[in-house]
Amino acid sequence: MIMSTLINGKEVSLLLRENIKSETALLKDRYNKVPKLAVILVGNNPASQTYVNSKGKAALECGFEYKDYFLSDNTTEEELINLVNTLNNDESVNGILVQLPLPKHINEEKVINTIKSEKDVDGFSPYNTGLLAIGEDCLMPCTPAGILELLKYYNISTVGKRVCVIGRSNIVGKPIALMLMQKGWDATVTVCNSKTENLTEETKRADIIIAAIGKPNFLTGDMVSDGAVVIDVGINRVEDKTKKKGYRIVGDCDFDSLVDKCSFITPVPGGVGPMTITLLMNNTLKAFKNHLEK
Ligand code: NAP
Repeated sequence: MIMSTLINGKEVSLLLRENIKSETALLKDRYNKVPKLAVILVGNNPASQTYVNSKGKAALECGFEYKDYFLSDNTTEEELINLVNTLNNDESVNGILVQLPLPKHINEEKVINTIKSEKDVDGFSPYNTGLLAIGEDCLMPCTPAGILELLKYYNISTVGKRVCVIGRSNIVGKPIALMLMQKGWDATVTVCNSKTENLTEETKRADIIIAAIGKPNFLTGDMVSDGAVVIDVGINRVEDKTKKKGYRIVGDCDFDSLVDKCSFITPVPGGVGPMTITLLMNNTLKAFKNHLEK
């Protein structure tokens, strides 16, 4: 049995937010300006509304200006693109975020591609993705950037280590794999997907496993080697009648069977989750500083 260390995303996130807040205050004293984040939500998906509210709260806590745009479900693609273009041309706005998913009649890719790359604080645009792929400075997608911050904080070296990423989405799996293969992080990265044969063979030989699958409790203790580091990105709702809401949140990793085998593990909630919004704030501050330097 191994005494594993719980990676406390809440704590790291709070520390980073304090730094963002202090830097924002210093910049305000110097330039009499603060970063401004604009968030657009189309429709009334309750989960998306909660995310948008949390982003607004975090932005104001960091000392930013914040504006949200709540648009109705029947907003057209053209109307949404016009709003994005207005915000692109507004010098006072540093970051634009369009909350996903969008209603089916709107092409998400087209909308995301409309956001100016220097204001793309989600880091999803093809331009920022391209910069990431060639190892250039860019606005990085927030969840994988948050994972890097957790690894740094806990001094978990990836140099020369085998990292197994389960999942190849554009928002988590692919970018975290790209980040960890860069010089400096120097990991040997394997990226798995739903067609991977003998997944357990891949996970068992990994020093670090990053699970971004979207399946509750998928990775179990028998799939990892003793001393592995497990980073659980999953956020899944499972029915739980004992809870007021009728559900609880679990990750992609079966915490109970893993906890005595891992050297480090992220809990869900309280692991990777809190980092995402904090890194969004970090990207907004970065976009603001880049604008000041122009
Ligand atoms: P996604 O777009 O649905 O991608 C899931 C990936 O998992 C796909 O690449 C899929 O492979 C792979 N997969 C599915 N079943 C598999 C299997 N049996 N073996 C190996 N790979 C398998 O999901 P996502 O957007 O990356 O999100 C993943 C999870 O992270 C979700 O629970 C999501 O809610 C959560 N998430 C959390 C945060 C956060 O802030 N903490 C942010 C984003 C996402 P194929 O490509 O072959 O289908």
